Amino acid sequence: HARKSAGSGYSLHDSDEARRQIRARALEAEMKGALAAGQFFLLYQPQVALADGHLTGAEALVRWRHPEFGVVPPFEFIEIAEASGFICPLGAFVVEEACRQATGWPEHLSVSVNVSPLQFTRMDMVTVVRKALAESGLSPERLHLEITESAFLDVSDEILAQLAALRALGVKIALDDFGTGYSSLGYLARFPLDFIKIDQSFVRRLATDPASLTIVGAVKSLAAGFGARVVCEGIEGEAEWQILAALGCEEGQGYYFGKPQPGEDIRLAAARVPDRKRA
Ligand code: C2E
Ligand code: MG
Ligand code: MG
Ligand code: MG
Repeated sequence: HARKSAGSGYSLHDSDEARRQIRARALEAEMKGALAAGQFFLLYQPQVALADGHLTGAEALVRWRHPEFGVVPPFEFIEIAEASGFICPLGAFVVEEACRQATGWPEHLSVSVNVSPLQFTRMDMVTVVRKALAESGLSPERLHLEITESAFLDVSDEILAQLAALRALGVKIALDDFGTGYSSLGYLARFPLDFIKIDQSFVRRLATDPASLTIVGAVKSLAAGFGARVVCEGIEGEAEWQILAALGCEEGQGYYFGKPQPGEDIRLAAARVPDRKRA
């Protein structure tokens, strides 16, 4: 791209920023039509038991197959979708699609779905989840909802009531990206949680940074005290796996175990691994 920025970092940055904004506006304008046109799809990242590496489920991660831009990752459109409220119909699609796809997997596998706070405040998640479960026939305990800590910021009785109702259905609740941004230990006391997901920033520094090791160990005992299991994100190597397993963290995911992949590949991977529950 032959822009004459004469070595000035500013004009290069400005043109990058301008291009980014143009693209963001295009994405915003096209989102609604894209959902109707079937351009959104899900990839699934394997989740494993850290004790022995066997597959326990997968996390659904949304992608947009854009006719001009190619496959667009969520960091480019989730925030825009939250700002416009489009996250609600998109989120409903994600829950329905994930439940539908997971019914094709062996029954011991769960499917984790990311949920934005707006989906609780602007629409009734209990209704959305009930519908997705009824239409797919998925058993509720196989569906895990991942909520980012920030979702708990404007915590209201309304959200609490929905979480309680979802758990009463059998759905499991995970606190995502724990340790980033909005951490408050108070959340742990107030929320009925099944899983705490330790953010990948801690996992990545594990082998080199003693502080991260201390933090992960502390989160593990905290979780145990609340009866929650720990899921570690972003495991990229054998060394991290061994450390996390030694700390007693129950589950994990990361490029070491598998990248986000089509749901059919999860089904095939599960079929290759002997099912320990039946073995
Ligand atoms: P997240 O829920 O924390 O998901 C984990 C992200 O880390 C995913 O990025 C995943 O591909 C990436 N990842 C997994 N393993 C590794 C690893 O070993 N190394 C590295 N470097 N990265 C790894 P992705 O798919 O781009 O998703 C980013 C974020 O977008 C998610 O973070 C989640 O907050 C959001 N998101 C994705 N799908 C949805 C959705 O359907 N609804 C909502 N509301 N948010 C979503
Ligand atoms: Mg997540
Ligand atoms: Mg996360
Ligand atoms: Mg994250």
